[in-house]
Amino acid sequence: MVTDIIRVQPAPEQRQAFARWAVRQTPKIRTVDPTTFAVPAHLFAIAPEAILTGAQVDGHPYITPTLEDFEDFPELAEALKAVPGEPLPDVPASAYPPDSVPLDPPPDDGLDCCGRTFKSPRAVAAHRRHVHPEES
Ligand SMILES: [Zn+2]
Repeated sequence: MVTDIIRVQPAPEQRQAFARWAVRQTPKIRTVDPTTFAVPAHLFAIAPEAILTGAQVDGHPYITPTLEDFEDFPELAEALKAVPGEPLPDVPASAYPPDSVPLDPPPDDGLDCCGRTFKSPRAVAAHRRHVHPEES
């Protein structure tokens, strides 16, 4: 299995906080040099914003996304209202290009869809109506 690795060099003032977060992940995030961490992409996606502030990410300055970045995509701005530790809000169907295809079709039963586990049959049904209207 190939894992995408993102090299993160935290800002000096965030290095300790980043290291504390890194060692709490499973498996632990390793360093590639004294100031750079090798972060699997799926963990980078959930790293707290604060420890990325001022970091170099794959050699580029990390830029904190702002609502202004989503001016042209108001429906995507909803994603920035996500609560850490909670599933991301659904992206509206209009956010997908007309020829897009879902990566993983929903199972016939259960609460899993699109790699997420929903808390109730009602929640997964709402998700499916919203994201996979062609299947209802
Ligand atoms: Zn789904």
